[in-house]
Amino acid sequence: MEDNEKNLILDKTYTCPICDSKIKSKAVKTNVAKFVETKADLRPIHSNINVTKYETICCPHCGYAALTKNFSNTTQVQRKLLREKIQANYRDHEEVPCDTYSYDTAISRMKMALLCTVTKMGKESEIGNICLKISWLYQDLADTIPDDSPDAPKKEIYLNEAKNAGINAYEHLSKARMEEDYPIAGMNEATLDYLLAYLGYEKGEYQQAMQYLSNAVTTRGISPRLKEKCLDLKEILNEKLHNTEEE
Ligand SMILES: [Zn+2]
Repeated sequence: MEDNEKNLILDKTYTCPICDSKIKSKAVKTNVAKFVETKADLRPIHSNINVTKYETICCPHCGYAALTKNFSNTTQVQRKLLREKIQANYRDHEEVPCDTYSYDTAISRMKMALLCTVTKMGKESEIGNICLKISWLYQDLADTIPDDSPDAPKKEIYLNEAKNAGINAYEHLSKARMEEDYPIAGMNEATLDYLLAYLGYEKGEYQQAMQYLSNAVTTRGISPRLKEKCLDLKEILNEKLHNTEEE
């Protein structure tokens, strides 16, 4: 797996928009990831690599980090904020060379992207999207630990981190839904409403989750695959709502 992963990625060079340094970041090669399925939280699963680990660019010289697709899109005001609040407090260093990103590395890169996105007062969708990816990475990390392993307590901690990041994603993406135009964090209306329903369910807000779910199901042109996910979640939610009424 490790060898395999190494062959699926490459180093790309970028110019940091904050400090103008030439920096390198690892990225998954085009068309090499073998898609298997999308989990209930829309987490993509590939058989040969975890693509979410390679979706950030971080500058080791000034601390600026972002999702790859947003890295170069900064306004003058945002660059000023990042220089004053991130670069001024960051210790410039050379990155330790590595073949692949571990989960620990990927999570800390994603958290740095979150800090920078909040600092630059980025859009709710951008913040929510990063929270979602932090949740996915913790979930993936938890999945690497079997239930009966001696590391089971660690698994609990990772699952808890995944849940908290999921709740943060829920807060930011539900705000984005009210303020922004689609696509929001790369999602159309049906997909976002389904995701909010799932995250609301995880948070324990079953009524609100059901509301998002009805919106998703009635959206015109919803894909059969997404509709199937909606129906699965509806079943779980109905049970939860039923049990809550009985209490
Ligand atoms: Zn920089």
